[in-house]
Amino acid sequence: MKALVQLLGLFVAMGASLASAETVRLLPDRVFDGQNMHEDWAVRVEGDVIVAVGPAAEVSGNGARDIDLAGQTLMPGLIEGHSHILLHPYDEVSWNDQVLKESIAERSVRGAQHLRAQLHSGFTTLRDLGAEGAGYADIGLKQALEKGVIEGPRLIVAGPAMVATGSYGPKGFADHVTVPLGAEEADGDSVVQVARKHIGRGADFIKVYADYRWGPDGTASATFSVAEMSDIRTVAELSGRYMVAHASSAGAMQNAISAGVRSIEHGDGGTPEIFAAMAADGIYWCPTLAAGEAISTYRGWQKGKDPEPLRIKEKKRAFITALEAGVPMCMGGDVGVYDHGDGVWEMELMVEYGMEPLQVLRSATSVNAQMMGLQDKIGSLAPGKVADMIAVDGNPAVDISTLRHIKFILQGGHRVLQ
Ligand SMILES: [Zn+2]
Repeated sequence: MKALVQLLGLFVAMGASLASAETVRLLPDRVFDGQNMHEDWAVRVEGDVIVAVGPAAEVSGNGARDIDLAGQTLMPGLIEGHSHILLHPYDEVSWNDQVLKESIAERSVRGAQHLRAQLHSGFTTLRDLGAEGAGYADIGLKQALEKGVIEGPRLIVAGPAMVATGSYGPKGFADHVTVPLGAEEADGDSVVQVARKHIGRGADFIKVYADYRWGPDGTASATFSVAEMSDIRTVAELSGRYMVAHASSAGAMQNAISAGVRSIEHGDGGTPEIFAAMAADGIYWCPTLAAGEAISTYRGWQKGKDPEPLRIKEKKRAFITALEAGVPMCMGGDVGVYDHGDGVWEMELMVEYGMEPLQVLRSATSVNAQMMGLQDKIGSLAPGKVADMIAVDGNPAVDISTLRHIKFILQGGHRVLQ
């Protein structure tokens, strides 16, 4: 009996999770369904599935418990397009020291804490862009999530990113000193084997570095050839997966486009021609604005006081150019470079750099779901979709920062936050 009482206490402490068969009708002021904002709509959920979405008067309350979300906007759970769950902000510990001095155990424990922070800030799905020297710990974290050992968003993982020999860091050691890298090297024929190994270990997609800062003057220059990346893409596609590329320079972005990537990460040097080609091929762009601002701040930049660093000016130019070209815009900030739990920062910057808040909401929900090939499950509120949703005070299509005031989170029908 005592054990039963303790168990009930634990259940209560965990919050009022919806029983698997429970039916609820959610009654907010408005609903963002992944595309548009609708006043006075309601959503009916049965267990972990959405069964009805529409004008409140037309959504049946029969047999359902009503949940009053007055004053709030209900929308799909946020989807982060570019995270690093195994990294923490570089002003706490530099990237080199995280890779070289933190144990995989420490990094995994931190990763579990980061996942919890992400979920509690409204992110119900993350696409994670590489374990950065922590082996396959991202895949281990995903498995722990799926077993219910830890709490966090749905995780879509890359495993170790693939880099061309000699290009990646940590760097600067004497010839006789070998250090572990933040990614896995491969070249020529071995790219096929490494891509297959990652898939076999559980990677959901393959990430390659199409360039890195290894030009003669330290600027970003291309690494893999188009032929090498095409081989990787073929391996990924044969297995039902896709390839994405880190690329900052125009040349590497062009190589990535030629090789058939799903998305390009960073893209600072994109030209009107490059972005036009991406729009024509339906290639997504994750601009990682927040990482650019975070790194500039770590280097001493005081926003609003000091002149804008070149990399910020360049990113703003690229962002406007891509918007004008009609590139499908991912919401992906490179979170991990800055605080997990501060994922909304990227959305605020997308607005600040020139995007309409409603477009940003689409990027963080339906567009990112499409990019990941998960549009049938998540990213929109429609019958048959998984009940991943959040409610925020006010209207985020008017003020994107209202996403910092989350009042309600449902993940697969399980209530995370009251
Ligand atoms: Zn990244």
